[in-house]
Amino acid sequence: MSSSDSKKRLLSSISIRTAFPSALILAVIISAFLFLFTSLPVLQIIGLGAAVFMLCFLTVYTISVRLHKKRIETLYKIVKNISRKKFKDYNSNPEVVKDELDLLMQRSVRASDTVSKELTRLNKIENYRKEFIGDISHELKTPIFAIQGFIETLLNGAVHDDNVNEVFLKKTMRNVNRLIYLTNDLMEISRLETGELKSNIKDMYLRDVVLDVVESLQYKAQKENIEIRVKDFDKNIQVRADRNQVKQVLINLIENGMKYNKPGGFVEIGVTDYKKKKDKLLLYVKDTGIGIEKEDLKRVTERFFRVDKSRSREKGGTGLGLAIVKHIVEAHGEKLFIESSPEEGSTFSITLTQTSPVLV
Ligand code: ADP
Repeated sequence: MSSSDSKKRLLSSISIRTAFPSALILAVIISAFLFLFTSLPVLQIIGLGAAVFMLCFLTVYTISVRLHKKRIETLYKIVKNISRKKFKDYNSNPEVVKDELDLLMQRSVRASDTVSKELTRLNKIENYRKEFIGDISHELKTPIFAIQGFIETLLNGAVHDDNVNEVFLKKTMRNVNRLIYLTNDLMEISRLETGELKSNIKDMYLRDVVLDVVESLQYKAQKENIEIRVKDFDKNIQVRADRNQVKQVLINLIENGMKYNKPGGFVEIGVTDYKKKKDKLLLYVKDTGIGIEKEDLKRVTERFFRVDKSRSREKGGTGLGLAIVKHIVEAHGEKLFIESSPEEGSTFSITLTQTSPVLV
């Protein structure tokens, strides 16, 4: 059955159902009246009753067709468009419900909106997944091919050449380490993105966490000839956050501050007040490094975005550090700010919600 046939059938069946009872009731009432209060012969009364029935039926039927036609057509259009994955902004006002047909229209418009939003969401996830897989394979290719090349060279005889064998093994090890960092960061980001990693938010003393992280990075900093300074702040400052995640944020930011610094430079960690909200403070990590150009600033938190690919790789970067930071900060409902001047340095700050007064 074509859609136009079924539309006509629906319209006529609704109209017949509306017209028939009213015409019948009117015809019976008029016939009864004539029977009781006039002396007309029964046959004439039946004839008049039938005429009233027909007249009333045709009138109500015509009115009903006019009343329902437009709405039934719209309803069919909505359903047809849903099956064709076309979603329009229908001009009907879904809040005005006069009868069941309006209710059905309202529900269909809402169903169309829901399906449209869901499809957009699924498309986004699908695109994200494709992009993510593409990025990962690209990132894995480089170290895997490098390892393959070094091992092949060693197996082809270089293993017996004392001038190069250690160099090749060290390069192989560096690439294996890169794979390890990459796998760890990928696991971390996928746990954050799928929501598997839930934040365990508690009150914590901020200075303890900062000092812990700084201590764990001191050895690395000394090796790289970078000084890590903590601008001292009140040890009683408490914030509500996930301790391990704040540590992760600090590690990523301080390590970046060291990686993209200049020899003899420093990384400073400190706390300032956040002027926009009194219950929050700003935890900052500032460096005297190479800085970031303005046009790259908005992209540095994207997965795998690096301003200088070779520098990042040479320093063991995975291109995921700031994406992880952004995820953690957003999962806390907090904000990340980045200020930078090329050749002068950068400051990364995050807001944190404090549970005791800040005295800075
Ligand atoms: P990576 O592992 O490459 O360091 P990140 O996500 O941590 O990845 O950072 C992305 C890019 O942002 C880096 O490759 C670098 O180009 C830039 N960047 C991050 N932090 C700094 C910084 N403190 N100073 C200068 N550039 C930075």
